[in-house]
Amino acid sequence: MAETDLGQMSGPLTGNKRTAYFFQPEICNYYFGAGHPMKPIRLKLTHSLLVGYGLLPTLDVYRSHLASHEELAAFHTDDYTSFLNRINPTNAEELAEQCSTFQVGNFTDCPAFEGVWGYCQMLAGGSIDGAVRLNAGDADVAINWSGGMHHAKKNEASGFCYVNDIVLGILELLKVHQRVLYIDIDIHHGDGVEEAFYTTDRVMTCSFHKYGNFFPGTGDVKEQGHGPGKGYSVNFPLQEGITDEAYHSVYKPVIARIMETYRPGAVVMCCGADSLAGDRLGCFNLTLDGHAECIKYAKSFGLPTLVLGGGGYTPRNVARCWAHETGVLLGQTMDDLLPESPLREYFRPSYKLRLGVLDDLDNQNSHDYLHKNLEEVMEQLRQLPGAPSVPFQNVPPALLPGRASAGGTGAAGSAAETVDPDTRDLAAEVDAKAHAGEHYDVSAAAAATALADSGSVVKLWDGSQEAGGEDVEQLQVQAASGAGDA
Ligand SMILES: [Zn+2]
Repeated sequence: MAETDLGQMSGPLTGNKRTAYFFQPEICNYYFGAGHPMKPIRLKLTHSLLVGYGLLPTLDVYRSHLASHEELAAFHTDDYTSFLNRINPTNAEELAEQCSTFQVGNFTDCPAFEGVWGYCQMLAGGSIDGAVRLNAGDADVAINWSGGMHHAKKNEASGFCYVNDIVLGILELLKVHQRVLYIDIDIHHGDGVEEAFYTTDRVMTCSFHKYGNFFPGTGDVKEQGHGPGKGYSVNFPLQEGITDEAYHSVYKPVIARIMETYRPGAVVMCCGADSLAGDRLGCFNLTLDGHAECIKYAKSFGLPTLVLGGGGYTPRNVARCWAHETGVLLGQTMDDLLPESPLREYFRPSYKLRLGVLDDLDNQNSHDYLHKNLEEVMEQLRQLPGAPSVPFQNVPPALLPGRASAGGTGAAGSAAETVDPDTRDLAAEVDAKAHAGEHYDVSAAAAATALADSGSVVKLWDGSQEAGGEDVEQLQVQAASGAGDA
């Protein structure tokens, strides 16, 4: 079917500005288990809307490659990636000790489902591909809705996330860009990304999230980085029910100030759709337009931008959100009536693109609460010494040997000369041979964890079944997959 036929999807040039889109149709068929909120079918629904809206011809569409063990080991430990490569539902009992070490298995929210390794390879491959494409100067926006797994740690799965494709994408961008800004609008704190770069000023992380009695428990406004990274972790805690207007009233000034003082060379965004009104696990009250406005605003600064997915647990709304945002990034106006598509029934009864807000959800973010946090974050940014630089270094090769040629340029170094005047600067710690985990400082992480109120750490999902029946949905996925292959 057209929706999974990637062979015909490469789009024409749209001026010098191109948007690259990375997708692996097979990723939609993975299954986390009955009742589990993470449903890869959301990616199939998203893609079907992109097809229906006729957006594919205006995108450069690529099938994501499968990230190798070596590529994943740029951030994760060898022990952990080897384990992920081995674990499956039948040997989980035999590997109980390792499951406990790496926090994978049915006793966690990261089950050892069939094919977990392939799933990780696909989602990480797309984010690395996107960063390579941006580095090569072939696109100014790269999208991988399968990515955005911001909770995964160097040596541990967490919050439905096994490998941290965001960290891998940022490491790739650091080969060309002196400074990378990470923006996280998922409802949960971007703890895995923050932790990876907590002690460096090469990456500024900025997360807006629900804080207090909410997973993962970290993300206090006072959690600001450590050592050379002091001041470069920005956290904006929020309470439930936040509306578009209230969100933008803090988001925009913070991002504007960061752009002004930090002057990043590239931006990476985690666009979790669980911050939308009506999400199964979320409790914010953002509309599709409000969520998209955050991406549009970040993009308005004209920097190469890697746009990634993230959470989002009401699949039909996740698809609405990310399809809409793809259109926004392409500068297209999206008709509110959803297009014909084989999966259109998922969007019943409204068959509309946009969602309303929840009228009965109070906005718990008072003006004073937002203002106080905004003041604190602005003061943090005021104290920064300005955009940090690092000494001249040789530019390591792109993470994927040979793939750069597909992007039209050779090594990242040659792209560097045309893409960004800051490319002379590259820290040795992001050399391809260096282990990204070296950014990670155990004492710093401990300090960060200590800042979090341990009493507020709660699970992302309490294991409860969703009303309505998971099995029915899974059957639908299988039926849709079968039809797609026919
Ligand atoms: Zn989330």
